Formats: sequence, C-alpha cells, structure tokens
Amino acid sequence: MPNVDPRCITQINRDVQKLEPSAIRAFDIQVSSIPGITKLTLGEPDFDTAAHVKEAGINDIATNDSHYGATAGKPELRKVIAEYLQRHFDLNYTADEVLITVGATEAITVAMKTVLNPGDSVLIPTPVYSAYNAVATMLGVKSVLLNTSPTAFKLTPITLKAALDANPGIKALILNYPSNPTGVTYSKTELEELVQVIKQSGIWVISDEIYAELTYEKQHTSFAKLLPEQTIYINGVSKAYAMTGYRVGYIAGPADLMPFLTKVHQFMVTVVPNVTQAAAIEAISNGDAEIDKMREIYHQRQQFMKYALNKLGYEFVEPRGAFYLFIQIPTDFVGDSFAYALELAQEAGVAVIPGTAFGPGGERYVRLSYAASMEKLNLAIEKITKYQEEIKSE
Ligand code: PLP
Repeated sequence: MPNVDPRCITQINRDVQKLEPSAIRAFDIQVSSIPGITKLTLGEPDFDTAAHVKEAGINDIATNDSHYGATAGKPELRKVIAEYLQRHFDLNYTADEVLITVGATEAITVAMKTVLNPGDSVLIPTPVYSAYNAVATMLGVKSVLLNTSPTAFKLTPITLKAALDANPGIKALILNYPSNPTGVTYSKTELEELVQVIKQSGIWVISDEIYAELTYEKQHTSFAKLLPEQTIYINGVSKAYAMTGYRVGYIAGPADLMPFLTKVHQFMVTVVPNVTQAAAIEAISNGDAEIDKMREIYHQRQQFMKYALNKLGYEFVEPRGAFYLFIQIPTDFVGDSFAYALELAQEAGVAVIPGTAFGPGGERYVRLSYAASMEKLNLAIEKITKYQEEIKSE
C-alpha cells in the first residue's frame, strides 16, 4: 500500500496527534523480547474465567442471541448489577440507572465526553492509570495533574481545595481507588472530608472503582454512597471476575444523567456484544464465592511479596487494595525509574513498569503486579536476590 497523501496526513486530528501510546504497553513490549523474562508488568488477573460463566456465554451463542441488543445493555444485566451494587456497596441504583459499556475503559470515555467540553479542565490526582489523561487529550480537555506523593498518594481536602481554587476551569475530578498503580485506598472518613469540598464546588466526580472488590482490610466505601448526585460511578467485570477479555463494564449515575451517557455510548459502540453480557449476568449473579476466593489468593501473594521485598531492602507504598506494589527504587541507584526498570529487566530478568508511566509522583518508583502465580512470584524473588548478590560482589 502507498503512504497517505501528504495533504491528508496534515489533517489528522490535532488532539489525536498529541496522544501518546500507552507507556505501560510500550514498556511491556520492549522487555518481552528478553529471553526468559519474568513479567510482573500487566494489571490483569491470571485466573481462568469461572466455568459456569464461560458456559453462560456458550449457551448464549447456542441459543442464537445474535441480533442487536438494547443500547443501554441487557435489561437482566442492568438489573443484576443494580442488585449487586446494593448487596456489596449499599448503593441504591435502579436498573435504569445502569449503562453497560465496553469495559471500564469505554465508561471512562463516555463519562468524560458527556460532562466535559473542549477547553474545560479535569483534575487527575497522580500517579494514576494513564487512560484518563489520554482520554482528556482526545477530547480537547485539559488535564490538571495533581501529584499526591507528598500526601501519602492520596488527595486531601487541602490539596483538593487548593487545586480547585487555582484552576477555576476544573469541571470534574477523577477518583480511582483502590488505586492503580499505588494500591492505596480511601477510608470512609477521608472520603467524607473530600465530599465537603466537592459539594461546595459543584464539580462532577468520575469514580473508577474497578478494584473495589480487591480491598484487603476495611470494607470499600463507594463515593456514590456519599454524594450520588455528583458522582458518575464506574466498575466492571474485568478485575473482580477475571474477565478482562470479555470487555464488560458499566456506569451507574443519577437518573437524569443517563440519557446523555446513553447517547454518547450509542454513537461510540452501538451496544456491548450479547455473548459477553450473558456471561457477565452469570458472573455478577452467581460469582460472589469466586471473588472471595481470588481476593484471598491475591492477599496471600501480596503478603508473600511484601515480606520478600522487605527482606531484600525494598520500601513500598503500603498496599490496601488492587494487585500492585508501588516500590521505591534504591536510593543509591543513580538513574531514573525507567532506567531502573530496564536494569531489573536486563540484569535480573524481572519486568516491572517504570513509575513515570503513571504521571507526576511516579519518579523513583516502579509498579509490580502480583496478579501472577506464586511460582512466578517466587521465581521473580529468586532472580532479584541473585541480581542483588551479583551487585554486592562486584
Ligand atoms: N480503570 C483502571 C484503574 C484500570 O487499572 C484498568 C485496567 O487496568 C481499567 C480501568 C480498564 O478496565 P477494563 O478492562 O474494564 O476496560
């Protein structure tokens, strides 16, 4: 095929031209070619999807569920999600207040497109999952990145108020807790303190709670419980049910917001595939026991990694949820977090993600995902131990 006509290439959307490809994927691809590499890079469950969930998908295909479905999603799925949100997080959404999306990723785009205009600003506490900033760029929305590392990787009422006062163009705040990449989460009291400021400001909160089920200590408190009238709640089946490839997420929000969200979703993707929605109905209706089992296993892995990394002299942000450890790179290492991640990959044979992939506050850190088997985690620790011994003997 010939290259694009030069007159056409200059017309590529300016915001799309500015968009950087995911640094996480890029680094993962870069280190994947290292022979024998042990990868603790990607944030995706290593478990198989439960057999009864797979059967529900197969059964859906077998019964010829092959026509366009309802735009907002299967009524049964919206109903079981509303019930699940009540059962697990004490949220009072009706089925009509739930919109099914292609993963939490589409939910993030739909939410931001619906409530933000080009030129508006969105407040994004960092280090954070990179999609929010990318979507803002695509929409011509300005990201105000707020480095939370000085405040234990959390937003506080003081830092929030200061950011809002300094940037009157902020129309929405992104919250993600438990957090990718730090594993920190907010207590109910901390959230209530943020609510005071947010209520006063009248901004939207887009609350991505995709890791809510992977909370290891106290019960997860949803932002939608505290301030539903300003909250766009996001969740999905990817992480909790080991269903990343099914691509089913959802938004819950105030009734009068739903038609706007649904319009955007309709013209972005039409509707989520029937087969994966059918599997999600089964997961959400009958998957509570599996969530508990997986949470327990992640917790054991977390404890093992904390102990082993501590013994090796590493320090990290105390993880309270999700399946990540945000590890401080040794103080005597002269390079940046990218150089350290590359060194670990090339010299120890263990791949993690440079903290800078998650924005301001990520420098001097790397993110390790413990969504990996104990065998793999053991091997990673053995390799890092050997690497450290080699450095000492040099
Ligand atoms: N939100 C956060 C914070 C994530 O870490 C991820 C995936 O890593 C997503 C959303 C994407 O979720 P989904 O697979 O449902 O699109």
